[in-house]
Amino acid sequence: MSLRLSLLVPLYNEAEIIDRFFTSVLPILEGLPLDWELVCVNDGSRDNSLERLSHWHQQEPRIKVINLSRNFGKERALTAALDLATGDAVIPIDIDLQDPPELIPRMVELWQQGYDVVNAVRRRRDGDSWLKRVSARLFYRTLNAVSDVQIPRDTGDYRLLSRRVCEVLRSMRESHRFMKGLFAWAGFPTTSISFDRAPRSGGSSKWGYWRLWNFALEGITSFSTVPLKLAAYLGLFTALLSLIYASFLIVRTLLFGDPVKGYPSMMAAILFFGGVQLMFIGIIGEYIARIHDEVKGRPIYVIESVLGDLLENAGKGKNG
Ligand code: UDP
Ligand code: MG
Repeated sequence: MSLRLSLLVPLYNEAEIIDRFFTSVLPILEGLPLDWELVCVNDGSRDNSLERLSHWHQQEPRIKVINLSRNFGKERALTAALDLATGDAVIPIDIDLQDPPELIPRMVELWQQGYDVVNAVRRRRDGDSWLKRVSARLFYRTLNAVSDVQIPRDTGDYRLLSRRVCEVLRSMRESHRFMKGLFAWAGFPTTSISFDRAPRSGGSSKWGYWRLWNFALEGITSFSTVPLKLAAYLGLFTALLSLIYASFLIVRTLLFGDPVKGYPSMMAAILFFGGVQLMFIGIIGEYIARIHDEVKGRPIYVIESVLGDLLENAGKGKNG
């Protein structure tokens, strides 16, 4: 039996570019010395994406569709695809052609040479604004400084993962899913190839800055507890400092008496520490909210319907 490659394609309101995606990706898949399948996840699109997908499924049964019951977000949509894919290797890919499908043959070659993970690293990001590039760089630097696993910079979800990596990912059922972190957590022999990231080929990005900020929070809280420890060290530091200041005040009062002064400095200190305390309560809150979500143990996604033979793998995942 020949090996099979699964392409995992989460999509949300992308009717406009579905046709373009398939017409550029199918010839490349046909050229591979492998069997393949395309696992598209319709993440609760409100346009006619699902119609387009089922049209393509009728033409080509190896195009399979998982239709989620509502919009769950890209991470969860991708998880559904990872759970149900039947391939010996999988490649998550965006539908907007920002991840060039031309890299697939090279990724497959490296996989057949024995690598379990082949990352596609972005050399240039012409498609992204200056602010997005700078904030991304800052974010990855901070994240890697505080996290327990090294998360490669300039690498999106576009990468090849072997079946063994897939199985590790399938065993991770956390509901806050920072996928790049989870991929890196799994480990295994890894290599990378680089490419120039083009602008979106149509439609518009669903990632505003607010969403990116929340994505960054997700990354840090999922892979680091350093923010929680920060409060302790800051507290220790200020306590030591105030001890020194207190001794100074005692000595000064003994020597020179105690003229009442210092209202402004007192206010400044009170307000400053009020702010710092609130901030750390907020940080603790971020972690508690996530504990709360995990404890509820709700399913990561809900499947409404499936087109194509995918469900053979479904029972093996834990909770859907
Ligand atoms: N996507 C999704 N669910 C969402 C948002 C996005 O499945 O709630 C898909 C989207 O259709 C695309 C991929 O995730 O295939 C990447 O989204 P986008 O291009 O908007 O992100 P960017 O490239 O700007 O990071
Ligand atoms: Mg995109």
